[in-house]
Amino acid sequence: MIAYIGIGANLGDARANVEDALERIARMPHTMLKARSSLYRTAPIDSSGDDYINAVACVDTALDAHGLLDALQAIELAHGRERPYRNAPRTLDLDVLLYGDAIIDSARLQVPHPRMTARAFVLAPLLEIAPQADIPGAGPAAAFLAGVAGQAIERLA
Ligand code: ADP
Ligand code: MG
Repeated sequence: MIAYIGIGANLGDARANVEDALERIARMPHTMLKARSSLYRTAPIDSSGDDYINAVACVDTALDAHGLLDALQAIELAHGRERPYRNAPRTLDLDVLLYGDAIIDSARLQVPHPRMTARAFVLAPLLEIAPQADIPGAGPAAAFLAGVAGQAIERLA
């Protein structure tokens, strides 16, 4: 199954945390890293603290969607993520954005990620590596770019 993972960090050395997450994603069981976006810098939305560093990874995985979430949460834990309050600054946030063309709504997992169409820091890196990406139930990802044009985002070299 082809899946897209959103990666974000804004605590500590955010750049290093995102790069380390990409390496750990590449080493997840039954999973191959197919593509990764550039790093992007964005001002926090609904959150506090320093700027975020974001990226999107594309994986080919034999894990089911909840198994993929488990593996991503293990990586978050390895980074010592704590959740003192909603939308707190975080060392590492890993989200399942898309899992094939599946629509999933369980207690632990909503896919496509419900807020992905409203976030430039998801759409820009996603479209960099998957310009034709389709969001099940919503349509082409590219169609949502105009709606986030007001969100400042910088692609890092
Ligand atoms: P957010 O990523 O929305 O800013 P959190 O990372 O703190 O907030 O949310 C984590 C919770 O979201 C987890 O407990 C997880 O079960 C749930 N969740 C629901 N859908 C997803 C998804 N598509 N990817 C990652 N976590 C998800
Ligand atoms: Mg998350």
